[in-house]
Amino acid sequence: MHEASIAISLLETVSEQCLREGYSSIESVRLRLGKAAGIMPDALLFVFDIVKKDTIACEAELIIDFIFLGGHCLDCNARFESEERYIFACPVCDSRSIKITQGDEMQIVDMEVD
Ligand SMILES: [Zn+2]
Repeated sequence: MHEASIAISLLETVSEQCLREGYSSIESVRLRLGKAAGIMPDALLFVFDIVKKDTIACEAELIIDFIFLGGHCLDCNARFESEERYIFACPVCDSRSIKITQGDEMQIVDMEVD
């Protein structure tokens, strides 16, 4: 399960940043997670709670903001969003010439430190 390595590198990133800015504990981490990022949020939350022990983020809560998959159609120019994890055709005209512009990102938005 690659969520484990994601959770570990996430913790390393926020811990480094927190210490560099002179704080000693992390209270929460907010993450933007695209529906198409290929990461299971439940698994990520689960692993995060395990690996955060013995770190300065041991009390930290992981908050996930979901980003829907979205894009536009190169044929009919429609813009669309989808709750699906994958989309292969334009929901308006059924064209397969679509460009996905959001939904595969994972990004730390902010964190609360103490
Ligand atoms: Zn279309």
